[in-house]
Amino acid sequence: MNSGGGEDVEHFRSRARVWIEKNLPAADDPAEVDDTELQNVIFDAGFAGIAYPVQYGGAGLTFEHQRGFFDEAKGRRVPMGFGVSIGMLGPTLLDFGSEALKASHLPRILRGDELWIQLLSEPTGGSDMAGALTRLTRDGDTYVLNGSKMWSTGALYSDFGMCLARTNWDVPKHRGLSMVAVPLRGTHGVTIDAIRSVTGVLGDFCVEFFDDVTLPAGNLIGAENEGWTVAQRLLLHERNAGNGLEHGIGLFGVTGEAPGVTVDDIAEGVRRRGLSADPALSQRVVEAYIEATVSHHAGERVMTGLRTGALTGQWASLLKLHLGVNSNRAAKAALATWAAEGVIWDGDEKTTGRAGEMFLRSRGFSIAGGTNEIQRNIVAERLMGLPREPSFDLDIPFSEVLRKRKNF
Ligand SMILES: Cc1cc2nc3c(=O)[nH]c(=O)nc-3n(C[C@H](O)[C@H](O)[C@H](O)COP(=O)(O)OP(=O)(O)OC[C@H]3O[C@@H](n4cnc5c(N)ncnc54)[C@H](O)[C@@H]3O)c2cc1C
Repeated sequence: MNSGGGEDVEHFRSRARVWIEKNLPAADDPAEVDDTELQNVIFDAGFAGIAYPVQYGGAGLTFEHQRGFFDEAKGRRVPMGFGVSIGMLGPTLLDFGSEALKASHLPRILRGDELWIQLLSEPTGGSDMAGALTRLTRDGDTYVLNGSKMWSTGALYSDFGMCLARTNWDVPKHRGLSMVAVPLRGTHGVTIDAIRSVTGVLGDFCVEFFDDVTLPAGNLIGAENEGWTVAQRLLLHERNAGNGLEHGIGLFGVTGEAPGVTVDDIAEGVRRRGLSADPALSQRVVEAYIEATVSHHAGERVMTGLRTGALTGQWASLLKLHLGVNSNRAAKAALATWAAEGVIWDGDEKTTGRAGEMFLRSRGFSIAGGTNEIQRNIVAERLMGLPREPSFDLDIPFSEVLRKRKNF
C-alpha cells in the first residue's frame, strides 16, 4: 500500500526491519545506551521525524510509515525521552514557526540535540490558560519577558520553552496572548527551581521566574496576539501524541495500556498470590483488559478518522479523558492484586512496588495536558455540541477581569 508519502509502506517497513536489526539494541540488552547518541543514529539513518518534511530533517513520509517503523522496532531499544519535543513542540513549530525558526530548530529537535518543553501553566492556575499573567512587552527588535511559569516538565534539562505570555491587556483574554520561544540554558533573567513530586522525585517538574528576559523578536511563534491559536494547536498535538497518535506514534508507548501498569502486571499479582479463583480479583483483571482493549480500539478509530478526515477536531480529548480516568483505575487494580507487595516500593522500576508508585503517578495523568474536568468540558462542548459553560470574562478587556471577578 502506498499511503501518499512516496515510498510504499511495505517497502519502507522491510527497509526499516533490516536497519533496526543491525542498529537498535534489544530492549532488555543490559548494556548502557546513551539515548541522545541512539537518537543521533536514528536521525542519521533517516528514521527520525518520519512524517516531518524532508527540508526540516524528516523523512517526508506519513504516519502509516511511522507506525510501520515502530511496529518493526517492538522489542528493541527506542529512545523515549524525545516524545515531547518531537511529538508536541516540533509539530507546533511546523504549524506556526517562522521559516528561520523551523530551519534552525527542527533538525536539531529530530536529532535529539535540542529538547523543548511547554511553558503554559502559571502559579495562579493552569486550567484557565488564557488567564496567563506572564507579560511579554515589545521593545524595538526585541521582546522583554516578565512573570512565572509552573509545573514545567523537564525544564532543568531542556534547551527551549514554548511560553504563552500576555502582549495586550486591553483586549479580551484570549486575544492578547502571544507564544514565544525562550532559551532556558544560561539565559540572563531566567531562574529555574526544581519541585519535588508526590513520588519523591526532585526536578521532574520546575517553576521558572522570568525577570526582564530579553528575547529576539524573531522568537515569536505565530503572530503577535494570536498565541491562543498556537496554544490550542500545541494542546491538540499534546493530546494526540500523548495517546500515541500522529507524530507521537511509537514515542509514547502502545495506545491502550495505562502507562506504567499493564494488564499482565495486574494478572501477575493474582497468579503469584495463587488467587486466580478469587472472583473479585478476576473481575479486576477482566475489567483492566476490557479498558485496555476499548482504549486501543478507540485510539485506532480516532487515528483512522483523523487521517481520513472522517473526524476533525478535539477527538484526542476523549482519549485523554480515558487515559486520565483509566490510569488511576489500573493502578488501583494493580494495588488490589499485588496487595502488600504492591506498596513496598524501593525506587526500582522493576519491583512490584511499582503499583504503589503508579497509584501516586496516575493522579498526574488526570491533570497533565488539561484535567479530566477540562477534557469533559471539551468533549461536551466541542464534540457533543452542548452549550458552553457560563463565563463572565470572554468579552471584556483582560485588565478589567480581576476587578469584575468578585461580582461573578
Ligand atoms: C505530570 C504533569 C506534567 C505537567 N507538565 C506541564 C508542562 O510541561 N508545562 C505546563 O505548562 N504545565 C504542565 N503541567 C501543569 C498542568 O497543565 C496543570 O496542572 C493543569 O492544567 C491544571 O492546572 P492547575 O494545577 O493550576 O489546577 P487549576 O487550574 O487550579 O484547577 C484546580 C481544579 O479545578 C478544576 N477546574 C478548573 N477549571 C474548571 C472548569 N472550568 N470546570 C470544571 N473544573 C475546573 C480542575 O479540574 C482542578 O481539579 C503538568 C501537570 C502534571 C500533573
